[in-house]
Amino acid sequence: MLVERMRPHTSTIFAEMSALAVRTGAINLGQGFPDTDGPASLLDDAAANIRAGINQYPPGVGVAELRTAVAAHQRRFYGLEVDPDAVLVTTGATEAIASAVLALCEPGDEVVTFQPYYDSYAATIALAGAVLRPVPLRPPTFGFDPDELRAAFSARTRVVLVNTPHNPTGAVFDREQLTFIGELAAEHGAVVVTDEVYEHMVYDGRAHVPMATLPGMAERTLTISSVGKTFSVTGWKVGWVHGPAELVAAVRAVKQFLTYVSGAPFQPAIATALALPDSFYGQLAADLQRKRDLLSAGLRSAGFTVFDTAGTYFVVTDVRPLGYADGAEFCWSLPERVGVAAVPVSVFCADPELGRPLVRFAFCKRDEVLAAAVERLVAVRAPTG
Ligand SMILES: *Cc1c(COP(=O)(O)O)cnc(C)c1O
Repeated sequence: MLVERMRPHTSTIFAEMSALAVRTGAINLGQGFPDTDGPASLLDDAAANIRAGINQYPPGVGVAELRTAVAAHQRRFYGLEVDPDAVLVTTGATEAIASAVLALCEPGDEVVTFQPYYDSYAATIALAGAVLRPVPLRPPTFGFDPDELRAAFSARTRVVLVNTPHNPTGAVFDREQLTFIGELAAEHGAVVVTDEVYEHMVYDGRAHVPMATLPGMAERTLTISSVGKTFSVTGWKVGWVHGPAELVAAVRAVKQFLTYVSGAPFQPAIATALALPDSFYGQLAADLQRKRDLLSAGLRSAGFTVFDTAGTYFVVTDVRPLGYADGAEFCWSLPERVGVAAVPVSVFCADPELGRPLVRFAFCKRDEVLAAAVERLVAVRAPTG
């Protein structure tokens, strides 16, 4: 029954792996959601808003307080001047990305993105009838080859979809890489759509660089982020996009007929949370950096090759030193064998070969959960003859 363009995208690996984890009682390091609540003030504000009757349709563009708070956040952290009227609130970053691609791409237009990629990208591009032009990010650094990136562009390139900090690899693009991407986009008249949902999760003193802060890029960039990762409320699905008025108007035209609006009681609460002091944001990154170190060390001692994670919730490993060639096979048997769930990187790739031996683990979990997972993973090595 399903239309052909969606047939390769019928299920998400996260749902399958989470179901398997529940069935086997495994510790779920597959799906990237935190197992602790976000700031109490945020939760209290949202609950109070529901009790106070903020439960009907908010304005189509989002509540004014939140749009103003997003603009203030962009000024505070990046020195970006954003007009609150150029901010559109969406149903998570996912809807912002989908609306942008659907708004900007005619059937047959091309979207350049990096693979592995967040799984909604390929499905969204397929929905739009657009063509995915994936550029590999390879271990150990998960950078791109400039020649391969250049070769992915054509006269039909309409959008460059950039995710930094990057899920699943944990890579954080630096200024030089972003400049190169931006120059190619400008050369080809393409719009850059950036997915920055992990903007506050960069480690070892690194800085997140928004594409829109680079010279000349604000005028061709749609910047997207959301509340789920920053405030540990991945089920709330409130996001936003900002950029040039014309582009945001195009995104809005599509967005209003996808969900129209959402999250009325959450939006004002998030506006307040975005103004939390630097100590909140600093603690978030420090906690996650410690968790990254805990899990990475454990995986290393269990025998995995572990790649450096500069940002996000995730660490990518290579399972070949353990005697396995295929990360998907490894992940399907892992919950049963040792009681831990993880996700194969090949499912994030247009060319599964690229991610064949790679497996992603999420470290956005309580320290004791990570420690228990590490203890179980010691038994992971394949039996040898
Ligand atoms: C979690 C995630 C999203 C989804 O964000 P929502 O606000 O929940 O829609 C988008 N992009 C990446 C890279 C993610 O990891």
